[in-house]
Amino acid sequence: MNSNNLLDFVKLRNSHEPEFIQAVEEVALSVLPALEKHPDLRKLKILERTTEPERLISFRVSWLDDKGEVHINRGYRVQMNSAIGPYKGGLRFHPTVNQSVLKFLAFEQIFKNALTGVPMGGGKGGSDFDPKGKSENEIMKFCQAFMSELSRHIGHRLDVPAGDIGVGGREIGYMFGAYKKIKNEFTGVFTGKGIGWGGSLIRPEATGYGLIYFAENMLQTKGQSMKDKICLVSGSGNVAQYAIEKIIQLGGKAVTASDSNGYVYDEAGFTTEKLAFLMDLKNNRRGRIKEYADAFAGVKYFETKATDHNPLWSIPAHCAFPCATQNELNEKDANNLVKNKVLLVGEGANMPTTPEGINVLIDNGIMYAPGKASNAGGVATSGLEMTQNFMGTNWTREEVDAKLHAIMKNIHETCLAAAKEYGKPGNYMHGANIAGFLKVARAMQAQGVI
Ligand code: NDP
Repeated sequence: MNSNNLLDFVKLRNSHEPEFIQAVEEVALSVLPALEKHPDLRKLKILERTTEPERLISFRVSWLDDKGEVHINRGYRVQMNSAIGPYKGGLRFHPTVNQSVLKFLAFEQIFKNALTGVPMGGGKGGSDFDPKGKSENEIMKFCQAFMSELSRHIGHRLDVPAGDIGVGGREIGYMFGAYKKIKNEFTGVFTGKGIGWGGSLIRPEATGYGLIYFAENMLQTKGQSMKDKICLVSGSGNVAQYAIEKIIQLGGKAVTASDSNGYVYDEAGFTTEKLAFLMDLKNNRRGRIKEYADAFAGVKYFETKATDHNPLWSIPAHCAFPCATQNELNEKDANNLVKNKVLLVGEGANMPTTPEGINVLIDNGIMYAPGKASNAGGVATSGLEMTQNFMGTNWTREEVDAKLHAIMKNIHETCLAAAKEYGKPGNYMHGANIAGFLKVARAMQAQGVI
């Protein structure tokens, strides 16, 4: 089977799932040449099998709002691959959630989890529920209704969800509480739990911190560091906030943040105090990013307009970290980054760069880290949370951070080694796809055709 055959196979079976097809195409283009070297894996149709979820659950979530009105949402869990461990991957609550988006995320998750070195399979789930504008009571009601069905399909040795867009500590608390009540047991069925009830220190910070550790490793290959680097960050949620924090700690300067309404450009750069304001705004007051610009002199705010590019990426900088959502950096944006001689793009979000954008970056020699490598620190630390739960212990902040640091360094080296071995030196995308795939493929081969 060549890449055309495989993609025809996937397109035929998933014709209404553009995001999923996009994710498969990226991995297939990297992996098929490597499979030439491994005819045993080709014969077993391992790649084809990874494109079919082991199980896909879709369910109705009915709940009552504060006025007593009935709402109906759709809930999902995609259990994509359990070759190397229990299904693991976040839950997303956002109106754009559908089967295609969750299958793309679950597919990416297989290879990301394999890269971490922690034994975790791939999964993802969520709902088209929009948490924006909902009261605290409505969020809790929805989480409980969602868990009344999802609880049948997950378990601490079976499938362990975590957060993602729209699902943070608050939602995990409500869902964990509902699960505990339904099952009458206290287990590590979620990661991202609160400290004091099974959570791990550094888990909230891990995706953003890990992203910047990975970028630091990339810069070191060019004899450089994050110090004094001007950085563009998109998003203002969990990943963006802690990426900004680590940039500040390493002596860099983060100058942007965004939400779905617009972005702020703070030429003077975020400071610890300004970041504390942003965190309070987004995590407690649940306000809009514009308020950041209103609060600090010299900060410019730009509303999102329907254009063919995202102007945030045309601001001069050394590094770019897309941390909001999929396909937020396209070919035009990539060309703007090239024009401004950006050194690296590190993906905090999942699949934020379009395939055309990736080609522009790589063709122009910009170091490009795909999310499945550079944002793997979150799930890796979730794996550390699971280990602590199994052991019945709590590691210190320093211990978890040191392990996260080591894991990101190891992923970086693994990507570069695989890229070199398979004839694409320096190409993190091919390296990540090939290394992640081969690990899962060998496990699937050993476990027979199931
Ligand atoms: P949050 O919900 O905390 O934040 C998401 C941010 O992105 C918000 O600022 C949100 O703005 C913005 N955003 C979301 N959707 C859109 C959209 N369609 N257009 C413009 N802006 C948008 O999510 P996270 O920070 O957890 O996740 C961000 C990305 O990182 C996602 O791609 C996620 O899959 C990925 N990721 C997250 C991990 C984690 O540990 N949390 C781990 C690995 C990857 P607004 O508030 O206006 O919606």
